[in-house]
Amino acid sequence: MSDRPLNLPIVEPGDGSNGGEGTRAVHTPRPDPPHQLPVGLPTYRTSTFEFETAQQYADVLGDREGGYTYSRIDNPTADAFALGVAAMEGYGCDRPIAAQPFASGMAAISTVLLTLCSTGRHVVAPTAAYGGTYGVLEHVLARFGVDRTYVDGTDVDAVRDAITDRTAVVWAETIANPTTAVADLPALAAVCAQAGVPLVVDSTFASPAVCRPLAWGANLVVHSATKYLGGHSDVTGGAVAGDVELVAAVRRARVDLGGSLGPDDAFLLHRGLATLPVRMGRHCATALAVAEALADHPGIERIDYPGLPGHPQHELAGKLFTAGRYGAVVTITPRSGGRGGGRDAGMRLCDGLRVGRVATSLGGVHTLVSHVASTTHRQFDDATLAAAGIPPAAVRFSIGLEDADDLIADVSQALESL
Ligand SMILES: *Cc1c(COP(=O)(O)O)cnc(C)c1O
Repeated sequence: MSDRPLNLPIVEPGDGSNGGEGTRAVHTPRPDPPHQLPVGLPTYRTSTFEFETAQQYADVLGDREGGYTYSRIDNPTADAFALGVAAMEGYGCDRPIAAQPFASGMAAISTVLLTLCSTGRHVVAPTAAYGGTYGVLEHVLARFGVDRTYVDGTDVDAVRDAITDRTAVVWAETIANPTTAVADLPALAAVCAQAGVPLVVDSTFASPAVCRPLAWGANLVVHSATKYLGGHSDVTGGAVAGDVELVAAVRRARVDLGGSLGPDDAFLLHRGLATLPVRMGRHCATALAVAEALADHPGIERIDYPGLPGHPQHELAGKLFTAGRYGAVVTITPRSGGRGGGRDAGMRLCDGLRVGRVATSLGGVHTLVSHVASTTHRQFDDATLAAAGIPPAAVRFSIGLEDADDLIADVSQALESL
């Protein structure tokens, strides 16, 4: 043996020769797990894990011992992503923070709502809640006898007044879509703590590089990791982080409902976390530069962006957000001019862009735009849009990682053609 070269995969005569061809093919030898820790995250692309004894299997499956049994239940690569989210969202908290990985933002959101709600209970949510969240509340929970009250998410008194003794959750969004309204998280947390109701915050538009709701008193934070956490428009995922007991209940519901994150997607999302602060710093700086450069453009009716001094929650954002970062969603409303009215102007602005791409989603390296009234808020008529503070011409920009000057020139040339 000693004259065999090291570090060369070698099979000795007779090794792996037990059984027939099929058995030998299934049970080919494997290297021992390395003693050296891999620096890159290994992808545990397996649906199931093997035990030495039936008793060990029973103990891990029964949560009496730590370990892995089945990847719908837990997977090490998915857990690495969840740990990363817990560390980033939990920074600055004086309590332990747990997290759970999900196959999409909606898997995270629906699982949290189904964990906290039961028949006869009640949810308070913002009027302009993300469409998928609204869909779960209206199309799923409503059928199971959960009541919903929608209030202006920036009006803390309205939230307080909406809470009843049946309220199971108060829902908030750090930065609302597409108005960019900013929630007063510490004030909402105080109201919820007083009432003994968990505050759940969808912080997708902010990411932990802009705001950490758990440090402002929220009990759970949820993410569509498809957006900034992944950051490259190449993966779908979600995450929940927060108080340990609540997250433990969310895990049990995830295991039952099955919206678990696959290992390959977990690998990409985990990789995204490492560059989140760098990307987010650049996304936010570019968004601010674009918003400031276009603020007084004669072809623009208004720009909604928390970084502009005229934004209704500009000061609050300065208090809650990482210094100088106001997110990277900028909603631009072109003047509708003579032709066709507001909706038409918004769609023509989208079509005139050469750098910005017309696509759903946000938070990736490419600047993406959507005309709000015909896409994310297509169910709203003009009156409902007006009540939600959304002009018919509004176009949501997710500012990517292109150069600010190129984006400013792109919007300017598109406005020329309106
Ligand atoms: C995209 C998004 C979701 C849903 O996430 P998916 O990953 O698409 O399931 C939820 N909330 C917000 C604010 C989003 O932008």
